Amino acid sequence: MCRNQASPAARNSLKRVPGSRISHPGTKQVIKTRICVDCGRLLTKAANALRQHETDIQVGLRLNLAGDLTEELRQKLAPDAVKSFNAARAAWDTYCRHLDGHGLLEPALRGKTPD
Ligand SMILES: [Zn+2]
Repeated sequence: MCRNQASPAARNSLKRVPGSRISHPGTKQVIKTRICVDCGRLLTKAANALRQHETDIQVGLRLNLAGDLTEELRQKLAPDAVKSFNAARAAWDTYCRHLDGHGLLEPALRGKTPD
């Protein structure tokens, strides 16, 4: 949908980043954003780390559902699941700190751990 065809509610739902410029139809004005190449790189790193953790957990879940998860297997799988969890969390925290550096996080979310 073209931006000009968006409903008033949809247009109002867009949050404008302070300091940004919005181009007008028919102009070639570049939109100034507060994101950079590192934003994408850090997000990809966090997403990949989370996918690795999902893979590690899914192995245990499948074994558990099949009734094949023994204590020996659990002890073998747990370190990798903990390691990938910590890596995913660290990557996500790094991404969040980077976004915060751009001023893109709500003040209430800075440094807050979800319940
Ligand atoms: Zn950035």
